[in-house]
Amino acid sequence: MSVSMLVDRLTQSLPVLEKRTLDPNDPNPCRGCSDCCEYIAIPISRPRSKSDFDELFWYLLHQNIWIFVDDENDWFVQVNTPCSALSEHRCGVYRRRPHLCREYSVEECTTYAPGDPDKYLFKSPDDLREFVKLHRPKTYARLVKHYPDGFPTKSDNSTPAPSTARSVQSA
Ligand code: SF4
Ligand code: SF4
Repeated sequence: MSVSMLVDRLTQSLPVLEKRTLDPNDPNPCRGCSDCCEYIAIPISRPRSKSDFDELFWYLLHQNIWIFVDDENDWFVQVNTPCSALSEHRCGVYRRRPHLCREYSVEECTTYAPGDPDKYLFKSPDDLREFVKLHRPKTYARLVKHYPDGFPTKSDNSTPAPSTARSVQSA
């Protein structure tokens, strides 16, 4: 795959969001939107080593987990799960909502901030593998040796093996 194809692929993985222009006179700019209430983002260390990336592949094998890099090159795990207080795009605990919600600025949100919300978005181990191949070639070479049977992926058709993680010992 050529470098331009890889860039295209990573660009295509960015979400297509309906952008709005903020009207300073609009008393309810969030009308009909609840994007920022439908996931949580947890900051993680910037990955450097092959074991750092191995952990990120593990994250991305789980359902409803994405990883994104913001425009300041900070890395986050995104857990796609709506807030339980959300109802029909409205906050059901508005007067008692956490301060984190109160401090979130509509000017910087995914709906109103200009440009793409993320520098990179990884929705699958395959997305991350392409990123490492393109941007971290030395780490990619180490990972190729680390995974002699191929990189972790969600679309492996080989015979399933029993889970080895956290196996329960019978008494
Ligand atoms: S702050 Fe932005 S993303 Fe969140 S609900 Fe309002 S318009 Fe939507
Ligand atoms: S508490 Fe309200 S504002 Fe905060 S995430 Fe939940 S629904 Fe959104």
